[in-house]
Amino acid sequence: MQLRYSFRLYPSAGQRAALAKAFGCARVVYNDALRARETARSEGMPFPKTGDLSKQLITEAKSTPERAWLGEVSAVVLQQSLRDLDTAYRNFFDGLKGKRPRMGAPRYKSRKDTRQSVRFTANARWSITTGGKLHLPKIGDLKVKWSRRLPWTPSTVTVVKDSAGRYFASFVVETGPEEVLPEVAPEVGIDLGLGHFAVLSDGTKVDSPRFLRRAERRLKKAQRELSRKEKGSRNRTKARIKVARAHARVADARREFHHQLSTKLIRENQAVAVEDLAVKGLARTRLAKSVHDAGWSAFVTMLEYKAARCGRTFVKIGRFEPTSQVCSWCGGKDGPKPLHVRVWTCGACGAVLDRDINAAVNIAKAAGLAVSACGARVRPGLVPAPRGEAETHPTPQPSTAR
Ligand SMILES: [Zn+2]
Repeated sequence: MQLRYSFRLYPSAGQRAALAKAFGCARVVYNDALRARETARSEGMPFPKTGDLSKQLITEAKSTPERAWLGEVSAVVLQQSLRDLDTAYRNFFDGLKGKRPRMGAPRYKSRKDTRQSVRFTANARWSITTGGKLHLPKIGDLKVKWSRRLPWTPSTVTVVKDSAGRYFASFVVETGPEEVLPEVAPEVGIDLGLGHFAVLSDGTKVDSPRFLRRAERRLKKAQRELSRKEKGSRNRTKARIKVARAHARVADARREFHHQLSTKLIRENQAVAVEDLAVKGLARTRLAKSVHDAGWSAFVTMLEYKAARCGRTFVKIGRFEPTSQVCSWCGGKDGPKPLHVRVWTCGACGAVLDRDINAAVNIAKAAGLAVSACGARVRPGLVPAPRGEAETHPTPQPSTAR
């Protein structure tokens, strides 16, 4: 499995200038190669090979006055740029052949693109110094904020500048299930909701943390301020940068929250089950869907890879029966309920159920997990549903059945 690790970089002014040069050169080589291929296509010539383009557009171009400055950046960065174009073409052609979702033909890059990047492979001889800095050829030793532990040093690093003007080092690390955790008993179903971020089958309701809500509030404020600024004014430009920064902070805070919650859930449970989001999405409006699905799918992806890495079971259930309409206590099916109904009474057994927890229990049950329906029950029904005559009224207990 491949995992991406990103760390914030703090380049000095000189290093920022050197990086700008590298971004620019990589972009020029990419565009030159794209132009060469487009020209060949329009003239009915064969598709130029990458090796030939590398010789012509990098090695030979460096000795011409118009492209002499290509020599000021690491040649590996330029070669990687050609490889990126190859990938873009391959994805495009595979899309045409129906091997993957269709996508557009490769496009020219612009200096105004919001995201700029360059990649250094092992050939570039980049390294992490003993002082914990990132050494990049022809750029220097960059300060890194190591927010997580890298399992080991990967062979390739991508340096990215985002729309908020921040720099990141991004590493792709190949991992195996080498962090298998000791077995634990609990298993859990998770209902992702609009009211709470997540509701668990054991009755826990999880809201977004304060640091995320605060970042979201600041973003709203920045957006309001931007809308009040006059078009074309310098203050508007400033306000726009502020909004981009606030956006980036919200994205960071959200990612941090997803990491914390998914790690906790995987540590504390042997198995987790969620509903397929495509199924879930049917019930919601388009606006809410677009906002929440993005966050949910990132979160579900984290659960999935962390489960795989830690030796836990991850189950995604598809459409079976509407989770909010089935009584998790007796299995009886009650009709559809409008969203504002948070607590309902099962017509079959009389149990009073919390809508969200009931859904989470049903998700867990559909996934074949051993969970108790106790958490979903606000009050037991007037008529208990004993399985045997000798059985008395069941008292709510945490799940121990396995
Ligand atoms: Zn019932």
